[in-house]
Amino acid sequence: MGNEKNVYLFLKGKADGDAGMKNLLGGKGANLAEMAKMNIPVPAGFTITTEVCSYFMNNGGKYPKGLEREVEEAVKLTGEAMGKTFGDPENPLLVSVRSGARMSMPGMMETVLNVGLTSKTIPGLISKSGNGRFVWDAYRRLITMYSDVVLEKAAGIEPEEGEGIRQLLEREMEKVKEAKGVKADTDLEVEDLKKLCSIYKAKVKEVLGVEFPDDPMEQLWGGTGAVFISWNGKRAISYRNIEGIPHDWGTAVSVQSMVFGNMRDDSATGVAFTRNPATGDNHFYGEFLINAQGEDVVAGIRTPQALNAVSKASESDVLPSLEEIMPEQYKELYEIRNNLERHYRDMQDIEFTVENHKLYMLQTRVGKRNGIAAVRMAVDMEHEGLITKEEGIMRVRPDQIDEFLLPMLDPEDEKAKESDKLATGLPAGPGGAVGQIVFTADEAEEWARTGKKVILVRNETSPEDVHGMHAAEAILTAMGGMTSHAALVARGWGKCCIVGCGALNIDVHKKQLEVNGRILKEGDYISLNGSKGTVYTGKLDLFLVDPSKNEVFQEIMKWADDTRKLGVRTNADTPDDAAQARRFGAEGIGLCRTEHMFFGPDRILPMREMILAETGEDREKALTKLLPFQRDDFKGILRAMKGLPVTIRTLDPPLHEFLPHEPKNQEEVAKELGIDVVTLKRKVTALHEFNPMLGHRGCRLGIVYPEITAMQARAILEAACSLKKEDVEVHPEIMIPLIGTKAELENQKAVVVETAEEVFKQEGITVDYLVGTMIEIPRAAITAGKIAEIAQFFSFGTNDLTQMTFGYSRDDIGSFLPEFIEKKILPFDPFQSLDQEGVGFLVRYAVEKGRNTNPKLKVGICGEHGGDPASIEFCHSVGMDYVSCSPFRVPVARFAAAQAILREKA
Ligand code: ADP
Ligand code: MG
Ligand code: MG
Repeated sequence: MGNEKNVYLFLKGKADGDAGMKNLLGGKGANLAEMAKMNIPVPAGFTITTEVCSYFMNNGGKYPKGLEREVEEAVKLTGEAMGKTFGDPENPLLVSVRSGARMSMPGMMETVLNVGLTSKTIPGLISKSGNGRFVWDAYRRLITMYSDVVLEKAAGIEPEEGEGIRQLLEREMEKVKEAKGVKADTDLEVEDLKKLCSIYKAKVKEVLGVEFPDDPMEQLWGGTGAVFISWNGKRAISYRNIEGIPHDWGTAVSVQSMVFGNMRDDSATGVAFTRNPATGDNHFYGEFLINAQGEDVVAGIRTPQALNAVSKASESDVLPSLEEIMPEQYKELYEIRNNLERHYRDMQDIEFTVENHKLYMLQTRVGKRNGIAAVRMAVDMEHEGLITKEEGIMRVRPDQIDEFLLPMLDPEDEKAKESDKLATGLPAGPGGAVGQIVFTADEAEEWARTGKKVILVRNETSPEDVHGMHAAEAILTAMGGMTSHAALVARGWGKCCIVGCGALNIDVHKKQLEVNGRILKEGDYISLNGSKGTVYTGKLDLFLVDPSKNEVFQEIMKWADDTRKLGVRTNADTPDDAAQARRFGAEGIGLCRTEHMFFGPDRILPMREMILAETGEDREKALTKLLPFQRDDFKGILRAMKGLPVTIRTLDPPLHEFLPHEPKNQEEVAKELGIDVVTLKRKVTALHEFNPMLGHRGCRLGIVYPEITAMQARAILEAACSLKKEDVEVHPEIMIPLIGTKAELENQKAVVVETAEEVFKQEGITVDYLVGTMIEIPRAAITAGKIAEIAQFFSFGTNDLTQMTFGYSRDDIGSFLPEFIEKKILPFDPFQSLDQEGVGFLVRYAVEKGRNTNPKLKVGICGEHGGDPASIEFCHSVGMDYVSCSPFRVPVARFAAAQAILREKA
């Protein structure tokens, strides 16, 4: 590795790297280089590559040969570009040591600012800046960050909760403030800060047992190593696990000349988005703080001021905007915003600092956005000619489409419960949420694990809280702005979130919050309107929005529909569900289960009579009673789906599911049926199975009791005929479940065909119908070529197919699957996302063999996987005709199907 280039410079107007080199330079380093090349004012610096990080990790914290010289050279050139010298007592250069991975991991790794301040350089910087207060404040921050990041975290020291060096030092500052009788950090004067710095250094020595380093190079290397080590910090690992980022990428380190937003009141620092990341509106959107250093904005310790008029939200309205205070710098920033959007052709998330009126850019990256905003931006940018429709589709993750179907607080209920309004904050993540208050991330996770819906309430969130934020329904913070950590993370997950809700007084120790004398405790319910920023006590009603009224949603879905080849159907058992799915764009029903239909109070009785029948004759009698109910059911569904195919599956579950098991219920039912309870009990016992999942169910029922299949076929076809007479176009498809051999299907198909002939004769008309089968038993997949000789369609029942291919009972996986995933025995839950290697092999094989014998064979999938984007991509790749999923997944599936084909083309 010795001779390779480990260090990439970015200086004024030129750079060794560019935006394409994210893998090597990390996102931050690559984009700093790109911006320097674009002649955007970026403080000079250099990036140490991610390969050095890997080397460092694999070699016990050693650096590759030659790195030291490369870094020294780069420091020199950086200083020259800025007209300063690192470690120089007269005109010292200070630098930041920044982390940056390929993919942004906001706040998950460490950064150290103001590196290079020592007893030698402090006087120089004071005379150069003419501002002692600023220099001592910068030194105070350096000691805090350095001792936290380098001397404690990177050294592997794990202090007790609340006893970390950072908190200990902050407590010292509180003491000084108290003694002086002031509240804000900015009220401390030069002498206070100077005194504070020596208190800090003494504390560091006392607690960590080491001297705070007074050598600039030692600080630089200490910071660099600590950033590398922070790649394997707890929160970084947990974030990568949630986001699915590989653990072996490593981080780069960017060393950059410091610019100071905390110089005085003509200095500022801020964070902005080139478009609103919560709504997608094409407005420059951001926040800043006067006289502050970078991390102050994101950390949420002061509620920041709005960048411009459109960024103002209720809470910050009174404060002047950057546009008002520093119109020239704002104008320059606005031009850079336009420039960056044109260049990157996407919304950017930027960091900037103004030092003595001069604007610098410190970071740009593609901004995280929620689903609503992602769609709006994709559509707008296509209209603006910035991107193509295909790019627009690829800019939105399928799960983000879901956000258009997210619940909202019912506006009527909000009006009615106006008096329950508790407080208002900034609307950082849209949608509505109702849940119980918890005050810590750990509790959020624990409560959620027991099935509770919780809302995590914090003063501000920090990267340590991500697991709890993930588990919570919504997040509510008292401090911070729209670019605070909480807002950023919630946005990435499309989670309802309100920040900067200043009226909340949170007491974590007492586990309560207080607002104007009103006290709420842990476990109390609150409701959030994340689109408006309103918080209510108690539970408000949630309701679902109608996405068909949303124009941008309609437009992007149209693009998707024009692009995709794969059809999208729905699994629906009732006319209401069918109609709902149709509104969501379903192109038919892929699975209509008939068993749910037998539980209605008017049908369960004849159903039970049928099951208990001792003779074929009695069974027929009971079935005759069921027939009209079924016919009405099918009529309703076929009508709701008029013009579209409807796949109806014959009875599937084991019969004992329809009988009562509790002695008390058994007595009641026996009475209702007019039979002896002993007879009923005997029947229940007789139907008992050791492995009901592998027992008398599916086509096995219809084979033993052909009258059941006949009754269902009759109900379907009579319904179809009568609708046809009303001029309603119908396309029934009768599906036989749980086939393992061709003979089984042959048997059931004969029953259906015979019944059809009778019905058509009786009705005097015919309707086109198909007979096909589920492929859900491995043997069916293996012999698919034969089965396809008589099947007109296959529908992969991948729930059962997964169960039987793995041999995992899907009702019992709870006891081992989580551990399998934790121990990486399985990469994911195969019941949620199709196991493409194993189960997928059978699917691919069966499609191929089936089509070989029957080229007209229609093929679809109707398991849970039909709504999972990765599985949908697989279904597309094996050439299925359609996927079928629950009504609320239909839009996601339509979208995923479009992405599947675009990805295939690429
Ligand atoms: P993160 O990835 O957590 O955002 P950053 O490396 O971006 O960490 O740094 C944290 C904060 O410090 C940011 O607000 C950034 O703007 C600020 N910062 C970093 N480097 C400098 C610098 N050279 N001059 C001024 N501020 C800086
Ligand atoms: Mg940053
Ligand atoms: Mg099944």
